[in-house]
Amino acid sequence: MSKRDYYVVLEVSQASSSAEIKQAYRALAMRYHPDRNPDDPAAEDAFKEASEAYAVLSDPDKRSRYDRHGHAAFDANGQRFEASDFGAVSEILEGLFGEVFSGGRRKRRAGHDLKYDLEISFVEASLGVEKKIDVNRPTSCTTCGGSGAKPGTPVHKCNVCQGRGQVRYQRGLFAAARPCHGCRGTGTKIPTPCEECKGTGTKLRAEAMSVKIPAGVQDGAVRTVRGAGEAGEGGNGDLHIHIKVDDHVLFEREGADILVSVPISFPQAVLGASIDVPTLGGKVMMKVPPGTQSGKVFRLRGKGIPVYGGYGKGDQLVTVAVEVPREVSRRQRKLITELAQEIGDEGHPQQASFLSKLRGLFES
Ligand SMILES: [Zn+2]
Ligand SMILES: [Zn+2]
Repeated sequence: MSKRDYYVVLEVSQASSSAEIKQAYRALAMRYHPDRNPDDPAAEDAFKEASEAYAVLSDPDKRSRYDRHGHAAFDANGQRFEASDFGAVSEILEGLFGEVFSGGRRKRRAGHDLKYDLEISFVEASLGVEKKIDVNRPTSCTTCGGSGAKPGTPVHKCNVCQGRGQVRYQRGLFAAARPCHGCRGTGTKIPTPCEECKGTGTKLRAEAMSVKIPAGVQDGAVRTVRGAGEAGEGGNGDLHIHIKVDDHVLFEREGADILVSVPISFPQAVLGASIDVPTLGGKVMMKVPPGTQSGKVFRLRGKGIPVYGGYGKGDQLVTVAVEVPREVSRRQRKLITELAQEIGDEGHPQQASFLSKLRGLFES
């Protein structure tokens, strides 16, 4: 990759003042700092590129050498700069990010978020429900008061990080901080751990709580209860309730509509009938008019699911399917044959029309 011009990198001109260059670098550092862009190599590269450009252009001597010879003014083999060359860069970063990024003080840790899987029935999801759940929340151990040390034994300062919970290290071109490995970020060393919590200072405790699931919730939805996660010095985490909606034996769902398929007999389809149809609100009677075709869909208005986060309700769509007997007795066969002759072609206009089109297709 060819090296970009330092002025281009900082989006300034050769005539720019040192104050303008400083301001340009501050803006880029704010945007690309790795602590603000975790796991983003492109941002890290942009940050390094800008830091290197600023390390040169902020130093009057280096800047004039760069203006005369370009990148050739410095060793072309990469390792041009020592950490000490970045004094100006560090100064800017400390000014910008202060203690948060420079590791000056241990941050008060916020509690972790927790996840809870909640299975509810189709009807509960449709109508809404209030559920009692037991959430295993990590809470401060009552035996040791959260210190993690066996009662009556001391808690020492971690000697790796001097109690800060973080250690500074050189990340490429600048100083950064990471959680201390010696104490896993707690800043303490415990010679005799509490037996109850194995030195962690926390214990899982089942906590009963009640959650409202609104009507119309979909399978896979996540409800978040703020502050119901793990407790922490820097505030509680959240509880994320992942909702799994069980299948229904008869209903299917399409948005706010409920789909149901109801089998009817041939005589019912021909003569018409009143049939029982299940709905969310219980059984209802539905009239099937004489001459109903198989696959016909009837719409029961407002018998569906409340629109999630909106107004009104969906419909229930009832598909009737004419069920044909798979086996018939000798007498039934005789009667049906007679019936077929009796009905003839006039009783099956669609079939007659189809057969005529079929003939036309192959005769022309
Ligand atoms: Zn304990
Ligand atoms: Zn430590």
